[in-house]
Amino acid sequence: MRKAQKAPTKRRITDDHLLKLWGNIVKERAGWKCEYPDCTCHTTQLHPHHFYSRRHASLRYDPFNGLCLCAFHHTMGSFSAHSDPDFKDRIISTGVRTPEWNDRLREKRNLIVKNNQAFKEESYEILKKWGLPEENL
Ligand SMILES: [Zn+2]
Repeated sequence: MRKAQKAPTKRRITDDHLLKLWGNIVKERAGWKCEYPDCTCHTTQLHPHHFYSRRHASLRYDPFNGLCLCAFHHTMGSFSAHSDPDFKDRIISTGVRTPEWNDRLREKRNLIVKNNQAFKEESYEILKKWGLPEENL
């Protein structure tokens, strides 16, 4: 008697996997250097930073919501993203990002999205395309 064939199991897409993919896209887009204005650090330790908190599911895996920062500008220095209350303003006023970019993110931030498996799969499909040549988009 033959064994009943199991349906191929689909690999579950985890939050960790998506955030790692998101982080790599953010770092690669920045050319593997800190995006803080006039940062002179030469480090290989770069951190992908969520411009708006990843608590907002609608922006959690959106590469446009990412900045590539060195450790100093991410969490350690007094002008770091996690210490300086004026960090967002500084990023925009120095031209690292535009006010229009910020408006788009703020609008998207207000969307109600559940970070469930369907949303993770949808986000994965979007993130996968970032690394592909344009004809695959
Ligand atoms: Zn830096």
